[in-house]
Amino acid sequence: MSVRVRPAIAELAAYQPGRSAADLARELGMSQAIKLASNEIAYPPLPSVVAAIAEAACDVNRYPDNGATDLTAALARRFDLPVESVAIGCGSVSLCQQLLQSFTGPGDEVLVGWRSFEAYPLLVTVAGATLVRVPLREQTHDPEAMAAAITDATRVMFVCNPNNPTSTALGSAGLKILLDAVGPDTLIVIDEAYREFVTDPDIPDGRELMRGRPNVCVLRTFSKAYGLAGLRVGYLLAEDPVIATAVRKTYVPFSVSTLAQVAAVASLRAEDEMRERCGAVVSERERVTAALVDLGQPVPKSHANFVWLPLGPDALEFAGFCEARGVIVRPFAGDGARVTIGQPQENDAFLSAVADWDGSRG
Ligand SMILES: *Cc1c(COP(=O)(O)O)cnc(C)c1O
Repeated sequence: MSVRVRPAIAELAAYQPGRSAADLARELGMSQAIKLASNEIAYPPLPSVVAAIAEAACDVNRYPDNGATDLTAALARRFDLPVESVAIGCGSVSLCQQLLQSFTGPGDEVLVGWRSFEAYPLLVTVAGATLVRVPLREQTHDPEAMAAAITDATRVMFVCNPNNPTSTALGSAGLKILLDAVGPDTLIVIDEAYREFVTDPDIPDGRELMRGRPNVCVLRTFSKAYGLAGLRVGYLLAEDPVIATAVRKTYVPFSVSTLAQVAAVASLRAEDEMRERCGAVVSERERVTAALVDLGQPVPKSHANFVWLPLGPDALEFAGFCEARGVIVRPFAGDGARVTIGQPQENDAFLSAVADWDGSRG
């Protein structure tokens, strides 16, 4: 006899973290490698945020505020919602898990476009629900096909917009098809981890989209645009307080640290500076995209802080090729490679690897 792992968990593939830059640099004997694999912002947190974290460091002998009162109030003000409509989580990944635990179980279906965020299949399995994947069309969510895949068992639909890893986004027409296709008892989760990088006015803001729709919620994070990936804090917005209330019940107590809460509040105060940074990332994104297209790579138009190279069967080999040149990208076997927009010289190093790759293949 031995301990018994739940079969669904025993069968799960362990999460494969990307290579660390320090590790690769050591292996290659370089002073530094470039990590463009995890969609982080390539700049340190804003100075006012660092100061708030430093000050709060003196308070960590106490447990965090379990209700995240200040942060919840600041978000409610920022998005013009009552505090009951806001929930915070230890990264928005944790909110995905809380949503699944709160709204699904064995026999329930969770619909996603695929390929999309890698955490979804994992978290659906952990919740004991059934994942239904609807293939993307031209690297983008296919609203008609997703609408057709809805059944009586569909409890939750994730719409990652912009989509990780393909960088594409659905506009208002596509989203409307999805919103109109589900019944009032199916929850639509619009995962907007990259919202702050969207500049195309046809891509609706989830906060606006959920007006008058009680079965829609929006997930956002401080990990990407705000540069707080290492602190773990994200949030959920939903007009119907039933959603946030259920999600708060599945919160692991105290899982958003004091430092994360304080940093998030300070970040909201520094929104203008954050927007400036996003603007710089967006202009690099446009430059990198144009250069890739010039190199013959059919990259889709990106609405996020990364680009997608649809390399198909060459994805893993391409990633290895880049690594040998000190650049870490994120391959998805058989599909493509996702490459985060970094600082200009980092992006140049990536572009020169792509040029070499093209050269190496004639
Ligand atoms: C990065 C990311 C998240 C958020 O991550 P957290 O760090 O857990 O907030 C959520 N969804 C998608 C699609 C992402 O790419």
